[in-house]
Amino acid sequence: MSSAFTHALVGASGVQLIPDDLPKWRVALVFAVAAVAPDLDVAAFSLGIPYGHMLGHRGFSHSLLCAALLAAVASLVVRRWSDGGRTGLLRIWVVAFLVVALHGALDAATDAGLGIGFFIPFSSKRYFFPFRPIATSSVNPFRFFSARGLAVLASEALWVWLPLGLLSGLLQAVRWWRRFSSRTTVEGLNGGS
Ligand SMILES: [Zn+2]
Repeated sequence: MSSAFTHALVGASGVQLIPDDLPKWRVALVFAVAAVAPDLDVAAFSLGIPYGHMLGHRGFSHSLLCAALLAAVASLVVRRWSDGGRTGLLRIWVVAFLVVALHGALDAATDAGLGIGFFIPFSSKRYFFPFRPIATSSVNPFRFFSARGLAVLASEALWVWLPLGLLSGLLQAVRWWRRFSSRTTVEGLNGGS
């Protein structure tokens, strides 16, 4: 798996695709929790469920169906904060699905463990991407603070945090430009009347 921190960061970044009438920090927190949630499946190890089982680590909990279900729960929570229900449930769900499904996608780009059961329960096949540059984080949180843990963070910084930061910057620039151009259009219309 990628580290919980990186999954949470990717989840929280989904807030940028949500309209401004929703409370940003609360939405970011809900999305972060939803994006980390698939890794609660590490409990399967202590329950004696084999890694390769459909309910094992990186199995159903990392599937697209589970992402859809987690997104449904997250979007119902978030929608309650919408100002007069202006933000559509479908839009929130789509963003929530995207950030939760990215959990499996990130894990599919890691260099160890078993692949991801994207299509469980319809197919038990596990998948990895052909290009897997991200170092796999240990399921043991205490091993996170080690040389291996630092190597994991370094690879995530390069392959996840940096592209995410660039994408966020681009998104903010587009938003700023749209706001700026609509303001100048309004000022132009007022000036011309
Ligand atoms: Zn995972």
